[in-house]
Amino acid sequence: MESFRQPSIQAPEEPPPEDRALRPQRMEEMIGQRAVHERLMIAIDAARKRGESLGHILLDGPPGLGKTTFATCIPRELGTTIQIASGAALAAPKDLLPYLTNCSEGSVLFIDEIHRLPIAVEEFLYPAMEDFRIDITLGDGVAARTINMPLRPFTLVGATTRAGLISAPLRDRFVIREHLDYYSPAELAAIVHRSSGKLSMPMDDETANEIAHRSRGTPRLANNRLRWIRDFSTSRAEGLMSVGIARTALEMQGIDELGLDGFDRRYLETIQRVFAGGPVGIEAIAHTMSTASDTLEDDVEPYLLRCELVIRTPRGRRITPKGEDHLGAPPKVGQGKLF
Ligand code: ADP
Repeated sequence: MESFRQPSIQAPEEPPPEDRALRPQRMEEMIGQRAVHERLMIAIDAARKRGESLGHILLDGPPGLGKTTFATCIPRELGTTIQIASGAALAAPKDLLPYLTNCSEGSVLFIDEIHRLPIAVEEFLYPAMEDFRIDITLGDGVAARTINMPLRPFTLVGATTRAGLISAPLRDRFVIREHLDYYSPAELAAIVHRSSGKLSMPMDDETANEIAHRSRGTPRLANNRLRWIRDFSTSRAEGLMSVGIARTALEMQGIDELGLDGFDRRYLETIQRVFAGGPVGIEAIAHTMSTASDTLEDDVEPYLLRCELVIRTPRGRRITPKGEDHLGAPPKVGQGKLF
């Protein structure tokens, strides 16, 4: 029998308990992104003092930099509730309807991956964002009627890894637009210290710095790497922690001194070896690597572009001399000293 997939609103996935434990709960616990943090705190403070709802906020930046963390901390600062939806799961206006009607006064509706909203859903959002009302069409053809339904004032927080894919009318309806950038090694080291304390695995500065330098400027990766190092330490190093142990554990995962993993290096190697250094289009690279171009564009390229290991030209991607140099130095997997 043929089966059909029903469009449905997915419940936001519960993060694993450890992830919840590491995610800052309040803005004051967040490390880095100082300018964004300060501007958001001013807007929150002003909304609180005036007793108004906070303006709609758009957060963009590569994955793992804290968009969801900001979105979940903001309602706590405001003393209000949050509903979480994903752009990919909102296939039609009716999927968005329950979220909008459930919004209480001043509450936050967080839509992750907002660039994936279909245009019909986007258009349904416009009056909701601007005038806190929705237009619902009942019936078909000549019998069709549009009714206006007022909503309680709410704050939409949208997050995206692809600001460029957001249409201008949607973008313009966000009062506050913030871009999250990669974290500095010092900020990441502070995050590693904070997380290692929470995981009951304190470490010295040198070890925290090493993990920070190998985490691609991304808190999520720093935390994931930390967990792996903790497992490695428990299983292979009697629970001890040192810079040598951290390095060995990371090299075992193929993570090199720039923090690139095997997949990042395969991307660089594909451009260098298969396409003679480029320029080459993203689709050709993705086909050769048997992966999706979206994965490369979202997860792999932003950091490599940032490190100037590749460049984007009108004719495609090219590896830089720095990228070629980096490939010339393969990681010494499993050869690090433990103690
Ligand atoms: P995004 O939504 O941008 O993909 P998240 O907000 O889910 O990223 O962040 C991933 C993880 O990184 C969080 O669970 C949290 O533990 C950590 N993290 C992110 N930003 C910060 C920060 N500013 N300070 C401390 N930890 C952070």
